[in-house]
Formats: sequence, C-alpha cells, structure tokens
Amino acid sequence: MVARRGRLSGASADSFGGYRARLVEALRAKGIRNLAVLKAFAETPRHLFVPAAVRHRAYEDAALPIGNGQTVSQPFTQARYLELLRLRGKEKVLEIGTGSGYQTALLGTLAGQVFTVERVRSLAEAARQALLEAGVRNVSVLVGDGTLGWSAYAPYDAILVAAGGPDVPPPLLQQLADGGQLLIPLGARGSQTLTLVRRVGAEFRQLPVAEARFVPLIGEHGFDA
Ligand code: SAH
Repeated sequence: MVARRGRLSGASADSFGGYRARLVEALRAKGIRNLAVLKAFAETPRHLFVPAAVRHRAYEDAALPIGNGQTVSQPFTQARYLELLRLRGKEKVLEIGTGSGYQTALLGTLAGQVFTVERVRSLAEAARQALLEAGVRNVSVLVGDGTLGWSAYAPYDAILVAAGGPDVPPPLLQQLADGGQLLIPLGARGSQTLTLVRRVGAEFRQLPVAEARFVPLIGEHGFDA
C-alpha cells in the first residue's frame, strides 16, 4: 500500500478509499448513525495524520501512537464524541489537544470554522502540515496552553477537550457561547468521565456521558507536567 504523498489532494485522489469505506462500515456496525459524522470519516484521509511507521494501520478502528507519548484516539470514540455535539455545519468550534490533527480535520468537515490549540510544538507543526496536505482550509492551529482557551476568537458554539482534566478550566466556560456545548473528560489521570457541559445564559449544566480514558490535560487549569 503506497501513498503517493506529493500528489494527494484530499481523500478523493488517494488509494485508501476502500479502507476508509470499511472503517465507516465498522463505525456504523458499532452504532454510529449520524450521517454527517459518517460522511466526515468517509472523506478524511486518516493515513495523512499518523506517522509512517503505523500508516498501514491508519484505517483500523484503533488508537495509534503519534509520538511524544501521545495517541490519536480510536475512531469509534471520536465518532461518539462528534455525534454528541450535533454540529450543523456553520459553528465556530474550539478544540483543545490537536494531537495528530485528525479530529481537527473531521471537525473542519462538520463545522464552519475550527480553532485548535496544542501544547506540544512538534505535534502542532506536524498537524498543520497534514491538514494542509489533506486540503482542510477552515482550521487555525495555535501552540500553547489550551486550558486558557483561545480568547481572540471567542465565543465558541462548541468546545472539545481531547485530554482529561481534573475540572473544567474556567477560561473555557467563559469562552463558550450561550446555548453552546463543551465536551471534556473529567477526573483523575487515566480514568475520567466524559462530561457534556451546556451553557444556558449564565448557567452551566453538566451531564456525565460515559467512562473514558484520555491522556492528561496539562496546563495552568489542568494537571502539572
Ligand atoms: N484528538 C487528537 C488526539 C489528542 S491526544 C487526534 O485526533 O489526534 C491529546 C492531546 O492533547 C495531546 O496531543 C496533548 O499534547 C494535548 N494536550 C494536553 N494538554 C494540553 C493543553 N493544556 N493544551 C493543549 N494541548 C494539550
């Protein structure tokens, strides 16, 4: 399986279409029903977002190592996560924890504009490159502490935190639009409860969704490094 990297322009021009279709079938079989979410997985070239060493496994429904001790999450987990946000295509979204940039690319398909923050510079740079190669244009990547959010573009209709923290970082609540939703794994290192926070005026309603295991959210309003 050889990807002719220099000539790829998004998902349609590569040789991985069959593998992607099988991944989409696997997601459907596991209960993912949201058509926009399934379509995002069908169109997003995951092989561009994982290191060459694991590229042959890019379309398995499995978490994969992306370097710096970080992982790109299992597609099924990401699909569940994305279904919960019920994006309609026009939203402004903030993502904390860019990682490989794969979920960022999925969000780019599902929302209007995506702002993403990653604390590890090398990951952010690789993600930027992969997003460019995948033809994703409505995404901006910032290197920094995502527990502070990205105030310049606030408020956000949806905020996704892809790492587990002890509490919801207050700046993220401040940057959430009225009627907006925030998803974050909350709890101890290594074992969290995925939590949906909905803002109604000045009120924040928390709803536990599922057990989860994410890498730690490290920063001013997260865990120590
Ligand atoms: N969704 C990503 C996987 C994210 S893994 C993907 O599709 O690949 C979680 C990421 O959060 C890691 O890259 C980690 O470096 C990053 N992270 C942890 N704490 C952070 C913080 N305070 N700000 C920004 N990124 C953070």
